[in-house]
Amino acid sequence: MEEEKKILQQIENIKKEDPFLDPDHASDNAAVDTDVREQVGHDTVEAQVKDLTKRLQEIKIAMINMEKGNYGTCERCGASIPQTRLELVPEARFCIECERKLRK
Ligand SMILES: [Zn+2]
Repeated sequence: MEEEKKILQQIENIKKEDPFLDPDHASDNAAVDTDVREQVGHDTVEAQVKDLTKRLQEIKIAMINMEKGNYGTCERCGASIPQTRLELVPEARFCIECERKLRK
């Protein structure tokens, strides 16, 4: 799936931006504000990677469902997910109504 490759690529790119990867990081004993900036940068990278990893898992589940032949079917109520929704959210596992209920 194209989407999966794209996300893996994104994760790689984001990880490269992690200031903690800087080999000087551990030894540079930089000013406090630099440390804070690096920490914030690192946290941002971690949050983004976490988000993308979650998306990747959802895509994998969608792929498994596709193989099983129930892709596009709501996992909760069994209704078919509208094509328009699948185009917007290819990894959607629930119909709009269920998604709304689950988010509450
Ligand atoms: Zn549903």
